[in-house]
Amino acid sequence: MQLLAADTTGMSTAPARPLDGKTALITGSTSGIGLGVANALAARGANIVLNGFGDPTSVEMTRQGMATEHRVQVTYSPADLSDPAAITEMLEFTWDVLGPVDILVNNAGIQHVAPIEQFPVSKWDAILAINLSSAFHTIRAVLPEMVERGWGRIVNIASAHGLVASPFKSAYVAAKHGVIGLTRTVALETAQAGVTCNAICPGYVWTPLVEKQIAEQARAHGIPPGKVVSDILLKSQPNKQFASVEEIGGLTAFLCSELGASMTGAALAVDGGWTAQ
Ligand code: NAD
Repeated sequence: MQLLAADTTGMSTAPARPLDGKTALITGSTSGIGLGVANALAARGANIVLNGFGDPTSVEMTRQGMATEHRVQVTYSPADLSDPAAITEMLEFTWDVLGPVDILVNNAGIQHVAPIEQFPVSKWDAILAINLSSAFHTIRAVLPEMVERGWGRIVNIASAHGLVASPFKSAYVAAKHGVIGLTRTVALETAQAGVTCNAICPGYVWTPLVEKQIAEQARAHGIPPGKVVSDILLKSQPNKQFASVEEIGGLTAFLCSELGASMTGAALAVDGGWTAQ
């Protein structure tokens, strides 16, 4: 039987969606994977908090477009996730506008590619802060209310680089391995609370972050950009294809559904077979 949502007149209208009424905060969702995840959750009825950097006009167009297309509330926080005080402000703003967070997706991330002896200390600090510590700050803040309500979903966007290493990515690989450790720990601490915590480990997904890396890798290895794609990026990915942001969004939506209730503490590879080798 199909469930129908009642409108204010008591008449049946649109079919109920699995995440209707839930609040989902997706960090780093003005672009790439985060935006794909936000769209996937909005399509299933969740109200959305977008976060990340970007041109204010285009962020506003994204916000309005998502709200209209999916008939949900969409709001935006420009918080810089390298700053714990800004994270606190983002969470207070979220609570004020959409109430407690039911679904937290820690996705914001940056990359820098350089041999370790030339790796700038400031880049190391920024990558650890944004890619790893921000997830600690968001999780510790939203968890008490998830536990109190007996329902919550935390999805951390890690990477194949959370499971295996590549040269010239010391900070990124260290941070992503850390994200998987954090995921497993939170899963154990919340196992009986109705809250799940999982990591998604994409191989290469075609996004602005990857486009930027192509130029950086070309410099680090001293080869043309075209060769970076064939000989470095997709070299380890046996299916020789970039994954799409829709694939990551679909998996996140599954983890947030009731069918994902027993999946917790997992590090789920979406990498065309990379880490099967
Ligand atoms: P992207 O560059 O397209 O998007 C990154 C998002 O994070 C943007 O919204 C950006 O504004 C935001 N962001 C960056 N710094 C921030 C900060 N200090 N505070 C708040 N927001 C900030 O990148 P993407 O490829 O979509 O990557 C998203 C996540 O997926 C990252 O954690 C990345 O490590 C991970 N990942 C990506 C790939 C890939 O191939 N693209 C593979 C594995 C894992």
